[in-house]
Amino acid sequence: MLTLTLPDGATRQVEEGTLPRDVVESIGPRLLRDALAVEVDGEVTDLVTPLRKGGAFKVLTAKDQQSLDVLRHSGAHILATAVRRLRPDAKIGFGPAIEDGFYYDFEVDHPFTPEDLESFEAEMRKVIADKYPFVREEVSQVEARKRFADDPLKLERLSEFSDDEIISTYTDGPFIDLCRGPHVPDTSYLKHFKLLHTAGAYWRGDEHRQMLQRIYATAFFSKDDLDAYVTRLEEAKRRDHRVLGQQLDLYSTDQRVGPGLILWHPRGAIVRNEIETYERDLILRHGYSLVYTPHIVSEKLFQISGHLENFKENMFGAMEVEGAAYRPKPMNCPGHICIYQSSPRSYRDLPIRYAEFGTVYRYERSGVLHGMLRVRGFTQDDAHVFCTADQVVTEIERLLDLVDEMLNTFGYPYTIELATRPDKYLGTAEVWQRAEETLAGVLKARGKEYSVDPGGGTFYGPKLDFKLIDAIGRKWQGPTVQLDFNLPERFDLEYNGADNAPHRPTMLHRVLVGSMERFVGGLVEHYAGAFPVWLAPEQVRVIPISDDTRAAGESIVNRLKAAGVRVHLDDRSETLNYRIREAETLKIPYMAIVGKREAESDALALRIRGAGKKQEVLPVQEFVDRVKGEIASRTITP
Ligand SMILES: [Zn+2]
Ligand SMILES: [Zn+2]
Repeated sequence: MLTLTLPDGATRQVEEGTLPRDVVESIGPRLLRDALAVEVDGEVTDLVTPLRKGGAFKVLTAKDQQSLDVLRHSGAHILATAVRRLRPDAKIGFGPAIEDGFYYDFEVDHPFTPEDLESFEAEMRKVIADKYPFVREEVSQVEARKRFADDPLKLERLSEFSDDEIISTYTDGPFIDLCRGPHVPDTSYLKHFKLLHTAGAYWRGDEHRQMLQRIYATAFFSKDDLDAYVTRLEEAKRRDHRVLGQQLDLYSTDQRVGPGLILWHPRGAIVRNEIETYERDLILRHGYSLVYTPHIVSEKLFQISGHLENFKENMFGAMEVEGAAYRPKPMNCPGHICIYQSSPRSYRDLPIRYAEFGTVYRYERSGVLHGMLRVRGFTQDDAHVFCTADQVVTEIERLLDLVDEMLNTFGYPYTIELATRPDKYLGTAEVWQRAEETLAGVLKARGKEYSVDPGGGTFYGPKLDFKLIDAIGRKWQGPTVQLDFNLPERFDLEYNGADNAPHRPTMLHRVLVGSMERFVGGLVEHYAGAFPVWLAPEQVRVIPISDDTRAAGESIVNRLKAAGVRVHLDDRSETLNYRIREAETLKIPYMAIVGKREAESDALALRIRGAGKKQEVLPVQEFVDRVKGEIASRTITP
């Protein structure tokens, strides 16, 4: 017998092998109508999978977050059902739910076209209307091989099952799949869905295997949610940093340089330099010292740090110099530690805060590279704090101030996550608990809301993750601060205490923007390419209407330049409209148009980005002061 504990604390005894649907029905037939799946002892399972263990028992309806994954994965089966009806030759791969929807992989001779997607979507509506139940069966290896005899990808998967593993198949109408579940009760539960696009995807993510065609789709419980998501996707497309990066001439990559290695163009370099200058001033004010460390480092250092042991697949290969092996550094920490150890440290020296815009190199498979967001070489705004255990609280407090000031400047709201001890960890459970309590305590004392990511810490310490929320509500990786119980041990870090005895310092790793490449890529999407004045590569474009006003235009340019403004004169003989349009395409914050009347009165007609054709005539000096003020205060406008 199994004991199930219901949310109200009541318990039920059921025989092993009972179907959850029977349990749900015994609780209430109405509940069965709303039930999509159940959660048993923390695991989501569908209504037709026999119960094999007891524990907390919860019925999942459309109101529960976990149900969405069940719906979406069921959607993947429905998609495959439709595809197989129209393209019987398509071999099937896998079809999981993913963060914003689901996909299914197919092996076909010709890639799917947008028209194919339309017909698949129409066919899915028929499968849904047919209201096929998802029928589960447990079968033997021999039986399973028979059922999937024509599906080599499924046969490959079957060969990996161990003898004691249960093999289950699910059938909805004409379609059968090898699957563990869970699924919704029948195909009619999928109502609000959309096929989005196709992409090539290697079978099992392995670039040595065949390329499959992946169909991406999404599904929601309500039409409003689906519509909102589709709108957000369109908005995200409009903001794609790869497209805007080219349009605004910010960066490129070149196969001759290598994939995932970013070439910063002059306009992109201005944005990056402004951020670095701003951040450098900020952290110097916050008590950091700047350091520089080399790009290639003897492999021995990474043996001590443990990177060769734990991070090797992400490192570039070794190069030999005079019999010693060197590697491009994947992280800056070991270098900073060496600076710390370059002389004896006393408790009076602590805390020591080393910061570096340190360029690191990490191997990423070419298939996962993505514009500026996922690259093989990037610059981290990295810092390491060495302090006494007593100083950790103050250091975290200082860091919260730093993060707040920085993210406000860029106009990012943010959330905070506390990632706690994983299953595999270094140090003792007590040390972890104390560290986690310290982090949580500081957040609470500061009145900061945060969520806990249980087990989300890395093996060497708990961390705080800040997630940026961009203009269309997407979350981006932001600052992190990580306590480290590992490296101080490995490097045998010490300081001399007030008791004149050696002590182990506590070490904090922290980044604010993280990868400069990813941060700028994210900013491009956050601002939709319309950088605030202080970051804009070109802040003002002066456009004289005709030759008569060129001299007045030049004078405006010179006065702006003298005030430290990035300004260009567009006195080409193109039409006024053409020149205005080009400035708009480049998303320049201000256009100063100089006509005859303006030239005579030391004024200019101002066009503000985003304000359409509206023009405001104002004295040149007033405009210079205004732009100067906006740059100095780093306002987000216009
Ligand atoms: Zn399934
Ligand atoms: Zn570090």
